[in-house]
Amino acid sequence: MSAAPDLTRNQELVLGTLLRVDGPLSAYQILDELRGEGLRAPLQVYRALDKLTEMKLVHRIETLNAFVACSHHAEHAGETVAFAICEACGKVTEFSDPALQKQIGAWTRRHDFLPARTTLEIKGLCAACR
Ligand SMILES: [Zn+2]
Ligand SMILES: [Zn+2]
Repeated sequence: MSAAPDLTRNQELVLGTLLRVDGPLSAYQILDELRGEGLRAPLQVYRALDKLTEMKLVHRIETLNAFVACSHHAEHAGETVAFAICEACGKVTEFSDPALQKQIGAWTRRHDFLPARTTLEIKGLCAACR
């Protein structure tokens, strides 16, 4: 991963799993995938996920309690990333749009609201499933 040269082995394994599966996985599903690699404790996976999330290489899908590999790390202009989640096939599509960021920023400033994090998750049917 040229974007993140400083990954630990566990972080690399976790990120590699998410990239390979190309869909949302829970921490326990990731652990299951990595048992052959010597990972046994959920904490090892959680630590790696925390770091990867912090680096924005991985995103947490709150409503699924699952994780996906970031699909366009380089293009994260704003902090706000939105996800469209297909309820039929489970496909998660990530997008970010500066206009979203702007609107949310304007609202929070207007209401003197201090945002800690923003979660935008749209559930429905993807183009292939509808
Ligand atoms: Zn992303
Ligand atoms: Zn679908």
